[in-house]
Amino acid sequence: MIPIANPEITDLEKESVMKVMDSGMLASGPRVKEFNDKFAEYVGADYGIATTSGTTALDVAVKATGLEEGDKVITTPFTFIASCNSLLYSGIEPVFVDIDPLTYNIDSYKVLEKLEEDPDIKGIMPVHLFGQPADMDTIMRLARKYDLIVIEDAAQAHGAEFAGEPVGGIGTAGIFSFYPTKNMTTGEGGIVVTSDKEVADNAKLLINHGLTDRYYHEELGFNYRMTDIAAAIGLEQLKKLDDFNKSRRENAMKLTEGISDLNWLVTPKVAEKRSHVFHQYTIRVINGFRDDLVEHLEENGIGYGIHYPRLAYQQPIYKKLGYDSFDCPEAEKASRQVLSLPVHPALSDENINEVIRVLRAFKPGK
Ligand SMILES: *Cc1c(COP(=O)(O)O)cnc(C)c1O
Repeated sequence: MIPIANPEITDLEKESVMKVMDSGMLASGPRVKEFNDKFAEYVGADYGIATTSGTTALDVAVKATGLEEGDKVITTPFTFIASCNSLLYSGIEPVFVDIDPLTYNIDSYKVLEKLEEDPDIKGIMPVHLFGQPADMDTIMRLARKYDLIVIEDAAQAHGAEFAGEPVGGIGTAGIFSFYPTKNMTTGEGGIVVTSDKEVADNAKLLINHGLTDRYYHEELGFNYRMTDIAAAIGLEQLKKLDDFNKSRRENAMKLTEGISDLNWLVTPKVAEKRSHVFHQYTIRVINGFRDDLVEHLEENGIGYGIHYPRLAYQQPIYKKLGYDSFDCPEAEKASRQVLSLPVHPALSDENINEVIRVLRAFKPGK
């Protein structure tokens, strides 16, 4: 079985964790501070505030940037549910806009249309899906023109760049996830990054019960603090991130070389000005052959993922809340066609050749 994800933990991470164990400081301490600084620097932001997950980082980013109950925020329905859930946590209304069929990211022209139609929109949350940056040029231009808060969901895009600028550090705030399947891990974990001091100060309060002095709580906060154990893993993983991403890119290139001539699938495209870090290598399976391909992959021991089989507004909880009438035909089509193949750095050349061989042996419609 070739798995769809396989986090690489070596003696380096284990030794760092053992040092934390021996130090007696298991909760948030010096390793978290170091991780905050190093990760923020890596993405070109002034501040990093590590959290317990990508989801809690999103919750903090939404609240720390000053978005409020009743505000409307544009986002994509073709994402992991945490993106838009983070808006609901603060009573904010997600406004779903369709995707660009080539990159699977939010379509910036549709964003413009929506902004012209609805003057009440306060923010936009682009998601750099599968490791490919969204169209940050246009998004930031629109944000300046319409005075919007921009929260980048970069949970899948550690190290990806738009026009040479690392994602996450471009908008008002950005977030990353360090779940084990992501491009780097801390076990569970996340981080908010920003270059706005006020947003950073708010985020620091929010993750720590609004504490400004010993047992003095200025704001309604939470306990979303990362542990030094997690940060110790993250510091080692961060050193390897560029190598991880390099091998993801190389694996993606080999897969594309091996399968792009097959007429029943479409390989991933990298749009202009973007560097793609291939959190996922996602193909489209056309003519309704996806279910047959899934069966074929299962029979042949190739791991796969469907990211994502349902749009956010098609989920029962969103329907229950009344979010069911959005016009996103490209996102709906993508949700019926996409399938992700193994692309992670732990794959050997033999593994990749096996994935290619199994795909080439698939006879659609037979
Ligand atoms: C993984 C992910 C998250 C949530 O991160 P967790 O660490 O799992 O909470 C948010 N948004 C996107 C796009 C993700 O892929």
